[in-house]
This record gives sequence, C-alpha cells and structure tokens, in this order.
Amino acid sequence: MKTNLNRPKEAFDYDVVVAGGGPAGSTAATLLARYGHSVLLLERDRHPRFHIGESMLPNMTPIMDRLGMDWREGNLRKQGAEFIDESTAQRIRFSFASQAPTYQVERARFDARLFENAARQGADTRQNEAIVKVDCQADGVTATSSRSIHRCRYFIDATGRGILMGRAHKSIRRLDNLGRFALYSCYGNAGSPAAARLFETGIIQIVLLDIGWLWIIPLTGRRLSIGLVVKTPRPQDVASHELFQRSIERSPTLTELLDGAEPIFQHRVEADFSYINRKRHGLRYACCGDAAGFLDPVFSSGVFFAAKSAEMIADRLHPALIEGREGDPNLHLPDNAVYEHGFQTMHRMIERFYHSGLVYNLFFEADRDRRIKTEVTCLLAGDLWSENNFFQQGLLTGRCGNFQVTGDR
Ligand SMILES: Cc1cc2nc3c(=O)[nH]c(=O)nc-3n(C[C@H](O)[C@H](O)[C@H](O)COP(=O)(O)OP(=O)(O)OC[C@H]3O[C@@H](n4cnc5c(N)ncnc54)[C@H](O)[C@@H]3O)c2cc1C
Repeated sequence: MKTNLNRPKEAFDYDVVVAGGGPAGSTAATLLARYGHSVLLLERDRHPRFHIGESMLPNMTPIMDRLGMDWREGNLRKQGAEFIDESTAQRIRFSFASQAPTYQVERARFDARLFENAARQGADTRQNEAIVKVDCQADGVTATSSRSIHRCRYFIDATGRGILMGRAHKSIRRLDNLGRFALYSCYGNAGSPAAARLFETGIIQIVLLDIGWLWIIPLTGRRLSIGLVVKTPRPQDVASHELFQRSIERSPTLTELLDGAEPIFQHRVEADFSYINRKRHGLRYACCGDAAGFLDPVFSSGVFFAAKSAEMIADRLHPALIEGREGDPNLHLPDNAVYEHGFQTMHRMIERFYHSGLVYNLFFEADRDRRIKTEVTCLLAGDLWSENNFFQQGLLTGRCGNFQVTGDR
C-alpha cells in the first residue's frame, strides 16, 4: 500500500526519487518500497556495469537479509583478512569464523541483483536515465533527469562518486592523507597451488609496500582481483602500467599466485577517491553511500557504509513520510552521531594504517593479545557500534597510541 498523503496525491509523481542504482540506492529504494512508499530508482548506466570493490564485510549480512537477498550463490565465502609484509615475512590473519558469513562478490552481478531486487520489492526502476538537476523546496522536490521531470516529496542522492548534491552545494572536502590512487586488474585462469589455497579460504590479502599496498581478492571462477593503492600523488616519470606491473612482479606472493594466470582486462585507474560530503542532508534530501563520503579501499568498508547509510535514511524517512514530516530540514540530525561514530572509527583506523604503522605496531602483535585481536576483528567485520570495544574507544578518543599488547589474557 502506498503512503497516504496529507496533500493532493497528484501533486507528486512519487514519494521518493532515488538517484543512483548502486548498493546505496538499491538498498534505500528497496526498504522504502517495502515500507509501502512509491519510489523511483534511476540509474545513469545499465546493469550489469563494471564496478570496483568486491570485498564485503560480515556486518553487511543483516542488511542483505533485510533486503531479502540470498547472496551465497555465485559469490566466494570470505573467511577473513590477512596483512603481509613480504620483506620481514610477518603476517597476521583476522578470521571471520565467529562473524556472520560474508563474500567476495563480482560487483557487476552483485549490483545488478540488488537493483533487480528493488524492482521486485516494489520500486519503479529505470536505467540509462541520469538525474541532472535537483530543486528542493519547502513544498516538494523537482528532480530533472536526462529524460523527464519528476516531482516527489523527497530526494535521495545515491550517485556514488558522482556526488550530485555535494557538487551542487560545493560541500565536498577532499582527504589527501589516505590512498591517493589505485591501479587494478582482474586475472583469470588462476590455477597455481597458491591460488587454489586462497580460493579455499576466500580471504582478502593485503600486501604492504613502501609506496602503499596491494590487495588480492579471490573471486569465483578462478579469478583474482589485484589492486595497487599508492599513498603518494601519481608520479610523472613512471607510466601507471609500469608501476602496476613492477609492483606485481616484485611481490613473491603475487608471482606465485599468478603463475599461469592471465589479465582479463587492462589495468584501470581510480584517483582522488577520498572525501567527505559536509552537507549530507537538508531540506527534503539526504545522501547515502559514496555520495555522503568515501574513505579508502583498505578495510573494504565502502559497500557496507553504502548500505548502512541507506538503511538509516530509509528507516528515518519512513515514519516522516507517513506523518507528513519529511519537509523538516533536520530530519536526519538524530542519526548524525551514529553515522559519525562508525565513519570516524574507520577514518581513524585508516589514518593510522597510512601514518602510524598500525599494522606493524598493533596488527602484527595482535596474536599475543586475544582481546585486541577480537576487537580489531570486530572493526574489520564492520561491527562499529558495539559499546565495549576498547580499541575502538581508543581510536575515537585519540588514545590509540597507548594501546600495548601485553600478552594473552
Ligand atoms: C579502488 C577502490 C577499491 C574499492 N574496493 C572496495 C572493496 O573491496 N569493498 C568495498 O566494500 N568497497 C570498495 N570500494 C568502495 C565501493 O566500491 C563504494 O564505496 C561503493 O560502490 C559505494 O556504493 P554507492 O551505491 O554509494 O555508489 P556506486 O556503487 O558508485 O553507485 C552509484 C551509482 O549511481 C549512478 N549514478 C551516478 N550519477 C548518477 C546520476 N546523476 N543519476 C543517476 N545515476 C547516477 C552510477 O552509474 C552508479 O551506478 C572501493 C573503492 C575504490 C575506489
């Protein structure tokens, strides 16, 4: 049943227009449609479309359950994350054995399934239609697309790194102290014994380098997603394919894994991906997912934050639409602190990864302290809102440097 409005129904085409059919947009559209609101979900491209970002977190599972998605099929179970320094042979593995099951996914297929699910659950979905302009007024929103004009009561910006509202409001703050650019490719026919072992565990490996780090993500179909994230600006004197190739060749782990494997596509580049949108919500609009901010790929938190922020917006908006309160510009203020708590935790942890030797000073020592290992594992799983994670409290209060690994407790 669609929302019963206090105003003439014909004044609006939809209760909510959602721009962007990635994980954030599809999550928001699905939940609002399930609540009974009329929703239009618009995607600029056409699914399945390529997207980087295959590694998911265990705390994504409750959201997938809520969306009615079974994501076991076609994806590789991810059993944890491993950090490796090849120069010292140090490595540490954080196991997700006691966490909800999560997966390494092929994003083209994963995102397409989420989008189709939104349609199945009642959202009106359209592809090859981009929102180009949004006008939010006290009496409603006019969302102009490449094909039409849509009048609605509320607008959700889920345009990812398109950051539609953030660009319009000039509210994007770039973060230039995290990863600066990424080069990545996907390799097929990965048939080496080392690759076979990795496919069995499904863990993501993170190989530390002087210039940044490499990700190794095993996927179904004997494929490996390989990426290099560099923490300095792009060098002018080295071509990106050389940098990528050289980093792979110098890594014994990758040399062994990729023996006999073939790149499926030429390496691709993403740069300047770290930013915060300082105006995530306002009069009749809210931003979720990358449109609200993106930190860095290192702890694989992007899709989780996308879905989580979309869920928070949908849950807050639902009663407001019922009661006709959606025009309150401060509607989402009560959720700010909750969102920030999770986002800031990840931000601090990523800053420490790049600048304070987090992996060397803490991760590599974590096997000696069960509590710290458990607490780090929880954060890596996306469990960011628990009340008794002392490591997290240390991160947020800036006292993380005081953490000492003191032996098994
Ligand atoms: C190098 C790199 C590696 C990453 N690795 C991981 C990882 O391993 N795990 C992880 O969880 N995250 C990872 N991420 C981040 C993750 O991919 C994103 O955080 C996630 O895709 C955000 O979801 P979203 O729905 O907000 O945006 P998107 O997935 O980008 O979806 C936005 C959609 O909006 C559409 N769109 C854009 N503009 C418009 C418009 N005007 N009108 C209509 N539609 C529009 C786009 O076509 C797109 O389909 C990585 C990011 C980078 C840069």
